[in-house]
Amino acid sequence: MTDCTICPRTAPDGAHACHACTRDLRAWYAELPHQLPLLRLALIPEGRPVQGGVGGRSTAPIPLNLSALNLLGPGQPVPPADPYRDTTGPIPIRALVSGWAHYIAYEHPAVSRDRHGTVQVRPCNGARATHGTTVADWCRWLTAYLPYSVTRPWIRDHHTQIADLMRRIRDLTHATPYRRRMAMPCPECGAFGLTSIGGQWGVTCEVCDTHLEPEQYTAYAQTILAAHTAAPQEQPT
Ligand SMILES: [Zn+2]
Ligand SMILES: [Zn+2]
Repeated sequence: MTDCTICPRTAPDGAHACHACTRDLRAWYAELPHQLPLLRLALIPEGRPVQGGVGGRSTAPIPLNLSALNLLGPGQPVPPADPYRDTTGPIPIRALVSGWAHYIAYEHPAVSRDRHGTVQVRPCNGARATHGTTVADWCRWLTAYLPYSVTRPWIRDHHTQIADLMRRIRDLTHATPYRRRMAMPCPECGAFGLTSIGGQWGVTCEVCDTHLEPEQYTAYAQTILAAHTAAPQEQPT
């Protein structure tokens, strides 16, 4: 076990990210495509009539939410060098996820044999999402390569950038995954920290990071309930 480079937990051997941080990324990749329609809705600022209106203005109002527009627009996958710190705004969603996919693909060793039968190991030429190049396609690609990504030291930067992107998107769409605290205590640490989060599979203890698959939680809850209902009532002494 080694230290997670993102949080204070420990990571499995050979990984730079712990199970919890890896689950974060998997959940964000799954959530991101669902946030896009909401972000398009957020393009029109709240309370603004779609058209018309009375009264005079000397300048035309900006009809769109520029923060949402920036995230949905095209852009450079890697921020340009900014010696004067005069560029602003985040990297747009599609540029960020496709940029990471191409970076990962370039780093990922491609193994092939040449015509003499000699094994050649060289970087991939680039990433290719199987079905297309939408944000959802790139998120599927990043999910598939996650077992490789967590073994690379740049996973901390990747986690930070995707976390920042999700925070910006949720600020605009006001859509945050639903969290539900489970009734049973954690089987490992005993704390009431088991939580189910919308879009994530199973339940996770927020205290000790124990993760239970849905069927594991169901079986565990049935065991606890059975033991509880079978126990004789304690008599006051
Ligand atoms: Zn971690
Ligand atoms: Zn626990």
